Amino acid sequence: NMPFDVDEIRKDFPILKREVNGYPLVYFDNAATSQTPQQVIDVIVDYYSNYNANIHRGVHTLSQEATDAYEQARVKIQKHFNADKSHEIIFTSGTTHGINLVANGFTAILQEGDEIIVSALEHHSNIVPWQMLCERTGAILKVIPMNEEGALIMSAYDALLSEKTKLVFCNHISNALGTINPIEEIITKAHMVGAAVLIDGAQACPHVKPNVKELDVDFYVASAHKMCGPTGVGVLYGKEEWLQKLPPYQGGGEMIAEVTFEKTTYAGLPHKFEAGTPNICGGIAFGAALDYINKIGFQAIQDYEHKLLAYATEKLLQIDGLKIYGTSANKTSVISFNIDGIHPYDIGTIIDKLGIAVRTGHHCAQPIMDYFNIPGTIRASFAFYNTTEEIDRFVEAVVKAKNMLL
Ligand code: PMP
Repeated sequence: NMPFDVDEIRKDFPILKREVNGYPLVYFDNAATSQTPQQVIDVIVDYYSNYNANIHRGVHTLSQEATDAYEQARVKIQKHFNADKSHEIIFTSGTTHGINLVANGFTAILQEGDEIIVSALEHHSNIVPWQMLCERTGAILKVIPMNEEGALIMSAYDALLSEKTKLVFCNHISNALGTINPIEEIITKAHMVGAAVLIDGAQACPHVKPNVKELDVDFYVASAHKMCGPTGVGVLYGKEEWLQKLPPYQGGGEMIAEVTFEKTTYAGLPHKFEAGTPNICGGIAFGAALDYINKIGFQAIQDYEHKLLAYATEKLLQIDGLKIYGTSANKTSVISFNIDGIHPYDIGTIIDKLGIAVRTGHHCAQPIMDYFNIPGTIRASFAFYNTTEEIDRFVEAVVKAKNMLL
């Protein structure tokens, strides 16, 4: 890996040069979507300029080139996640699609009275598909509660697990609070009662490199757009035996072996789950994004982001009346906070006028907001291309907004 030099890294991101409302952009909404380096943009331009074609069908040269690049991206993703086989990697449109694909597949497997467990820290996309699955099957949804620090109460998890438990779903890192969940323990204990586990890695993958084999996880999902790749593409890793067992999610072209009006047989993995023309360019660019972040290196990324987190936390806590939600020691570079007597939207709106992008609201995690009895928070989320100077500007802007509003 190259030595970590944030000034050099920032040159890779054209968007970081732009101004917003007359100020240089400070982009602290990385947990919603990350920015895209030139190296990935170049791959997208090259695809549409030179070899745009449909894949897996044409004998012509462009189609072969596009197919090869797409399948090479699948292998890159396989290596990145340390999956045993490339056909255990299913291209999706993103985390939400991957979760729905698995939830749909379990309709045929679950029986009335079976139990599935989710965590209290979930994004709506890891709650609603399971509720819909429960409605279809009569299965029962149970929730691992959290504590004041925004960490899961693991003794409560132990008490929920039983031979009735068929599935457990949890995010690797919470998008609303940044808590890193003990997924190793969650997976091991679920397997002890014979339950399958899906881990939502949407927030983890920008910061850590998950090793699905070592984790022994059954399903792991993520989105490219949170890890320097484009929107509209993501990955579902599934253990081969599970992917064989689950029925296809969508019917269409590409996913069949043979079709007659009497009966259709499905293609093998991974194509069984990849009906229709996929986001070909997106998949190839996803591979390029993995190359980019691996070149920087996850250890360097974590070390640097940790410094940003510590620096920003200390500075923000000097503001009177400011409360941070999610204070677990085991967290990533996300700070969710409020200031006494001020609505989060008001702060977000004022600091946007100063060129600073943060997220305000419930972050698609209303149960967490309900737990803290708040309408939402202001969430600043840092990436490896952010700087302490940007944090200084952000904190100054928050103070200014507070003084205007109180
Ligand atoms: N899960 C978590 C934890 C997330 O943070 C997000 C995105 N905010 C999602 C799922 C959904 O990802 P996508 O919108 O890319 O499908």
